[in-house]
Amino acid sequence: MLAEAERSETEAFTPPAMGEPYLLTPGPLTTAYAVKAAMLKDWGSWDSDFRAMTADMRRRLLAMAGDSEGAFDCVPMQGSGTFAVEAMLGSFLPKYSKTLVLMNGAYGQRIAQTLDYLGRAYTAIDKGDYMPPRGPEVAAAIKADPAITHVVVVHCETSSGILNPIEEIAEIVAANGRKLLIDSMSAFGALPLDVRDIRYEAMVSSANKCIEGVPGFGFVIARKSALAATKGRSHSLSLDVHAQWDYLEKTGQWRFTPPTHVVAAFLEALRIHQAEGGVSGRGERYAGNRDALVSGMREFGFETLLKDRWLSPIIVTFFNPAHTDFDFTRFYELMKVKGFIIYPGKLTMVDSFRIGCIGRMDAAVMRQVVKAAGESLNEMGVDDAAPPAEALAERARLID
Ligand SMILES: *Cc1c(COP(=O)(O)O)cnc(C)c1O
Repeated sequence: MLAEAERSETEAFTPPAMGEPYLLTPGPLTTAYAVKAAMLKDWGSWDSDFRAMTADMRRRLLAMAGDSEGAFDCVPMQGSGTFAVEAMLGSFLPKYSKTLVLMNGAYGQRIAQTLDYLGRAYTAIDKGDYMPPRGPEVAAAIKADPAITHVVVVHCETSSGILNPIEEIAEIVAANGRKLLIDSMSAFGALPLDVRDIRYEAMVSSANKCIEGVPGFGFVIARKSALAATKGRSHSLSLDVHAQWDYLEKTGQWRFTPPTHVVAAFLEALRIHQAEGGVSGRGERYAGNRDALVSGMREFGFETLLKDRWLSPIIVTFFNPAHTDFDFTRFYELMKVKGFIIYPGKLTMVDSFRIGCIGRMDAAVMRQVVKAAGESLNEMGVDDAAPPAEALAERARLID
């Protein structure tokens, strides 16, 4: 057996597997070989070995969140990330709460839609496709509506890739005595969300994003006092965070069949994460990926939807080129043939596509992505990837 650091080093950033493309997507994403290999064994969910794995995982996640005083706990939840978001909302928002939802993309909209299903009262600040919600407008909304008890925000809005100003918002929410819930699905593990620096009641993330595991569960990290208050509140049997927490505390087991192989893979992903230098190490690699990608793509004339200040190291949205011979479907296929799966855009105003910076790859891989993009443009006969003027005018509206 190799030591942890050695093991992850020998892994380097080799291609996913013979002939398999890199997934330049926000998850599922390209995982390390060791993460995939960890699934080649079966575990009994009742067995003490698996219970120890669950306990180890919860401990490691709490350490990642900076919980040095044991004031928080971690509750895993089966399903994709959305299941965990819904579990958090249904459990942490009391029946007679009123929530301020900060929306600037598809995931903020999904939170509002979930509250519609749950029948919880809410109001929203909708910033459109990619404008960031700012502290002063959150403060004004709270002052204008004293019934607001909670605020929900998306940390990195994966639909545009914008990194929302989470510290600024958390400070305003705390200063006004309201409670903050965070969807940090695509940020936790690579961007700081330390409970000692950012005040929140609960946050949610999942196995298959910045921690680089495979999909199958999400997890809630919450203040224990807030967790205790969620008893009997959930609308759903299977998404009841308190019931899952209680059962885990009493038995060490998940309430219903856990995704055992996914948990095993996730533990390996957590070890690699730690060997890489934890949140800061992971964040630095992703930032290097983004920088290599953005500077390379700009050489061809491509432009990012967001100004540099708002670009997350998670995923980058590029405008489609104005050139009449550019066709996204063709570009996608040409990139795939070269070994890279890219991602369509999710904007309503202008045509765009996205390239993820997360997963098991480094700046050298991103330079290959840029090279492949240049070759693909050539094959389409596109000599300039500059966006249409109206796209740039749209971007100019975005504050610096
Ligand atoms: C990925 C993601 C989710 C969850 O999506 P699933 O497809 O259910 O895993 C939620 N919020 C954000 C911000 C995300 O990036």
